[in-house]
Parts: sequence; structure tokens; C-alpha cells
Amino acid sequence: MNGRLKVPSALLVAAMITAGLVGKPMAEGAPADVVAHTHVLQQGGFKLLRLTSGSTVRLGGQPIPVVNSAQGSFALIGFDRKEAPLRWLEICTPAAPCARQPMNITSRTYLTQNVKGVPRAKIEPDPVAQRQMQADNAAIRAARAKASAAATRGDRAGGLGFLQTFQRPSPGRVSGVFGSARLFDGQERSWHKGVDYAAPTGTPVVAPTDGVVRLARDTFMNGNMVMLDHGANLTSVYAHLHTMQVRPGQVIKAGQQLGTVGNTGRSSGPHLHWGLYIGAVAIDPQFWLP
Ligand SMILES: [Zn+2]
Repeated sequence: MNGRLKVPSALLVAAMITAGLVGKPMAEGAPADVVAHTHVLQQGGFKLLRLTSGSTVRLGGQPIPVVNSAQGSFALIGFDRKEAPLRWLEICTPAAPCARQPMNITSRTYLTQNVKGVPRAKIEPDPVAQRQMQADNAAIRAARAKASAAATRGDRAGGLGFLQTFQRPSPGRVSGVFGSARLFDGQERSWHKGVDYAAPTGTPVVAPTDGVVRLARDTFMNGNMVMLDHGANLTSVYAHLHTMQVRPGQVIKAGQQLGTVGNTGRSSGPHLHWGLYIGAVAIDPQFWLP
């Protein structure tokens, strides 16, 4: 593995470093598997903290899991689509008094996307469907809670996927971006918590990095849906799949096939929906691709 987390292009990165939006590459001699870029301080972005062993971290008073490994101690923080412009971190190390550190988060503007051709029953679910959605949401929350609990315990069943270079889970054309307001037949129903890749039904969907499967379920809205846990409270979801080829608890390697692109759930054509979360906060997956 020569994992290096990058943002879209060298030129863009240089511009973002100058603007203070992206962290500078780590010093020479940093372990080969440690990410080169440590933060995108924008709404939908993230910050990876490299810590002294034994440190604790709080954000807005809430504890953030710290992962200890041979490569060092790390914690991940995600910024909401509408994150406040200033957040304070509290970092406590064994040898020094606790320090408060400001994070200035740049705001973004988002697209408005009209979604057409979705069946009425998927836009206005009947009571039976609403009960199914409640059960789906409970299963999704429980799966995410398992990832949080594993990060808090220091259990690294899924490895250190959050430190690796991510690869695209699908070769398809980008047909939807993070943060867009979604209008179904002209009415705003939700916002888009991920990126969409349009691709023919049956196109392979692969894991972008190492992980462990936390969920593989047929859901009302997301259709066939897989969730991976990449460590440090970072999870990813793959929705509207035609087939699912993994089961909960299975350890997955980067590039391994999870299933195939489909049109299941609230979907208006074959595509992969890829979502990335830190805890319950949806972040922009495109910030994680080279
Ligand atoms: Zn989507």
C-alpha cells in the first residue's frame, strides 16, 4: 500500500493550500501509509487529526473517537453541509494542558437538482412503505452505531481504510453531486448526501478502500444498500444496487466487488449513489478521490 489521500488535482491542491483550505503534505519521513492531505476546511469537508498517543479530542463538548495504530493515533471530524463558520476543537494530551483550537470552515453554494421520472409511490410513500422506511432507518442507524462503537473501542476489524488512497467505486459519469437540493416534481424533498455515477445496470461496484461490511439490506428509499466501515467512524454507503455480493461482518479489501449498479429504491435510472459519513455527518466523497 502506498496510501496517499489526495484532492482533485495538483493545481487545485496548490491553490487550496495557498488559500489555507487544504493541509500541507506531511513532512518527509512520515510513514508511507499516512495520508498526504489532512483536511478540507469547507462545508462537507473533513479534518484528520494526527495525535500523540493517549490524547482525547472533543468537538462542541462531544468526544471524538481516537484510533491508535502502529502508524500513529488519529481522529476524524466531518463538516456538515451547512457547518457553522467557526468550530472549536479541544485536544488533551497526556503531557500538556488541554488546548482549544479554532477551525474556520468555508461555506459553499449548492446546486438545485430537478429529479423527474420517479414513481409517485416512491415520492409519497403510503403507510406500509412508511413503516418499512422507519425499519430501514433504524437498521441504518444501528449499523452506523456499530462503526462508532468499534472506533471508540479501538477495534480495527476493517483495518485502516480511512488512511488509504480512495478509488472510485464505479467508472460511471458523475450525474449528481454532494449537497444539491432535490426537487421531486418541483417540490424540495431532501438534499443529496453523496455523489451519483450513472452506469448501466450490472456494472461492478467496488470498495474504494479497505473496510468491513456493516449493512447489506433491501431498503425502500435506497433500494439494495451496502454500508462499509473504514475505521475512525468513517462509513460509506452504496445504494440502488442491482445485486449485493457481500454480507454484514465480511472484511473487504480495496477494489473488491460489493455488487452491481442498479435502479432499485427511489431512483430514476440505473446509477450508483455513493455516500460518505463521519459519524452521522454526511460529507462530500469527491474530496477523498485523487
Ligand atoms: Zn444519489
